[in-house]
Amino acid sequence: IKIKIVDIPVPITIGPAFEGEVIRKADAYVEFGGGKAPGFEYVKMVGPDDIEDGRITVVGPEIDDVEDGAILPIGIYIKIYGRKMQSDFEGVLERRVHYFINYGEGLWHVAQRDLCWLRISKDAKEKGFKFKDFGEILIAKYKSEFPAIVDRVEVTIYTEEALVNEKMEEAREAYRVRDERLGGLTDESVDEFYSCLLCQSFAPNHVCIVTPERVGLCGAVSWLDAKASFEITPTGPNQPLKKEGVVDEEKGIWRSLNEYVYTASNQSVEEVALYTLMELPMSSCGCFEAIMAIVPEANGLMITTREHSGMTPCGMTFSTLAGAVGGGVQSPGFMGIGKRYIISKKFIKADNGIGRIVWMPKDLKESLRGEMTKIAEEQGLGSDFVDKIADETIGTATEEILFFLEEKQHPAFTMDPLF
Ligand code: SF4
Ligand code: ZN
Repeated sequence: IKIKIVDIPVPITIGPAFEGEVIRKADAYVEFGGGKAPGFEYVKMVGPDDIEDGRITVVGPEIDDVEDGAILPIGIYIKIYGRKMQSDFEGVLERRVHYFINYGEGLWHVAQRDLCWLRISKDAKEKGFKFKDFGEILIAKYKSEFPAIVDRVEVTIYTEEALVNEKMEEAREAYRVRDERLGGLTDESVDEFYSCLLCQSFAPNHVCIVTPERVGLCGAVSWLDAKASFEITPTGPNQPLKKEGVVDEEKGIWRSLNEYVYTASNQSVEEVALYTLMELPMSSCGCFEAIMAIVPEANGLMITTREHSGMTPCGMTFSTLAGAVGGGVQSPGFMGIGKRYIISKKFIKADNGIGRIVWMPKDLKESLRGEMTKIAEEQGLGSDFVDKIADETIGTATEEILFFLEEKQHPAFTMDPLF
């Protein structure tokens, strides 16, 4: 592998060769976010006067102020100004934080938005890496990779909990607005879907297909983001895919998509069905916000999230499931998804949709309750459907939840056998 050394003023080497580098907990000097402390990353478009180009500020403790093994909150707040910048590009640029930070030797970054999880290795600390250097890397990379739209960049790294929480609210509001921009767009109303190959640096055969009604499994690349990304970089990781040659409308299989996926997955995935979990499901890399898995005894499925560390009815925690599901392979019955896919009308449409969900963490259930209830009503599942879904307060063993599901007369019991 050729290491491309970009001239960035940090004491560690920066290059694509380090992208796949894993930093285990024992090798980390400091760890951020990851559910153990709050964390977020946010790119915000600003006007020419609201930014000081190249400025990096650390608000809160720096690396020398904390002990080996520390777990800290983090807020990576990036302001960008560009004459050709558009607010539609914020999400596209924000998603790159993951890749840019992983380029650093001794740096590790997982997930996105308010789920991000980072580590700095003991070696990197030894070499003199400072939190401020995250800013150096991001500024250099944004300017070198997006010169057409990025004129000025300013980065603030928050490590003080109260401020992280305060700024996180602003970021969450922006995520919400972005997610809602899709509005009434449906898969039928567009001629093109988009590919996303960004994660091939970690999972070389993985291909996401992003549609108006199916967000990328990281939850951070919507159809509009992919479209914007293609506008910025026409030869980049997001390509328009014409929908041609319907093979199965219900399951969401198109000949043109299959052909693309076959080539882009290095001939490892021959066909993909967008609207089912049971047959030719989309492959999973490692960034999924949530994972779904069948619960055969209940004729349904469960969903668990990155934030939920507890046991689940399939006998595995999120991290164990993640190890089994990831890596760019298709595994029928198991799939990584973006959380918003759950409240899409296309959510495993061919498998009867949300009516199949028998278990999900209480937090997820509550956060989606309003939208799930609306869909449940539309699909004739009743306005109390969400209360028929078990969660960890009901139980995590199959027997425990089966009793609850039967008592509530969960609709999955009367559906066709899932397989
Ligand atoms: Fe793109 Fe999918 Fe990776 Fe998200 S998970 S960055 S949509 S390839
Ligand atoms: Zn990924």
